[in-house]
Amino acid sequence: MRASFYDGPGRFATGSVPVPAPTRGEALLRVRRVGICGTDLHIFQGHLDHRVPRGGVIGHETFAEVVEAPKDSGFVAGDRVVVEPVVCCGACRACRMGASYLCYSLKVLGVDLPGGMREYYPVTTDHLLKVPDALGDDAAAVIEPLAVATHDVTRAGVKRGDRVLVFGGGPIGALIGLVCRQRGAEVVVSEINEFRLGLLGTLGLETLGRGRDAVKFVNEWTDGVGVDVAFEVTGRPEAVRAVTDVVRVWGTISIVAIHAEPMAVNLYQMFARELTMHGSRLYTRAAWEEAIRLAASGAVPLAPLVSRRIPLEALTEGMQAALGGANVMKVLVEL
Ligand SMILES: [Zn+2]
Ligand SMILES: [Zn+2]
Repeated sequence: MRASFYDGPGRFATGSVPVPAPTRGEALLRVRRVGICGTDLHIFQGHLDHRVPRGGVIGHETFAEVVEAPKDSGFVAGDRVVVEPVVCCGACRACRMGASYLCYSLKVLGVDLPGGMREYYPVTTDHLLKVPDALGDDAAAVIEPLAVATHDVTRAGVKRGDRVLVFGGGPIGALIGLVCRQRGAEVVVSEINEFRLGLLGTLGLETLGRGRDAVKFVNEWTDGVGVDVAFEVTGRPEAVRAVTDVVRVWGTISIVAIHAEPMAVNLYQMFARELTMHGSRLYTRAAWEEAIRLAASGAVPLAPLVSRRIPLEALTEGMQAALGGANVMKVLVEL
């Protein structure tokens, strides 16, 4: 079978290896689609070399079909599934608190452990969730980022009638916007990329484009009150600088972007308005289940977010294009 191997910063090599035999508790999957996300771009640039081994197989947004599964596992050949990639210890403080996705010894399939960028993939069945037939293959491959978004929106407590500002309209920012709208909130997404602005518009999301001042906009929108919730999904210092200035008294700020460097925050506003700021990462099992429900019912459209499909052999070029600011939203590897 074909598989893509991480060969150090800037390089993936496609090679041929034997089809793996599933061991105890594992189903053998035939992979159909794997999403490429921001984490994968960090891996590509060598930022996660302390976690991803040379020769490692990445891919944590996997949609596949079951080839064979253990008896009584609840899965049978032909089932369409997505892979929940979180591996936890079950014993540490986080796991005992019910936050196993933040396990102190957390491992992620497709980062620390082998992922889905290959034709056949053995996975223990407790990591699998069934995909309803109503969902197409492209949409199914976007369930993982949708689970990120449902987790983020739940943690931020967004409710009907809220006003929400999302800084950053890439795949995760767009999905957060769509989930907030589904919950009955009014949403505006701030983004600078023209292609993404156009796509957000076709999804019916209000946007704030390049050169528009978010603080000034929110003051006009809310008569100086501020939005109920703001999400920081850009990783950019300008957004972090502005985020505490756009939220109302007792409002909520959710940090979703991965900030590798310390950033300047206006803490006066945190104090003056008694704001709550929290981080939001990965997902609970409940977030996955909600994501599948929202996708299957059509409440959150996923297929329009897929702007490109590439073959496994084009992974290096696909990553280079994404890093170069190509006109894309979600890119999938199609097997
Ligand atoms: Zn991801
Ligand atoms: Zn643990």
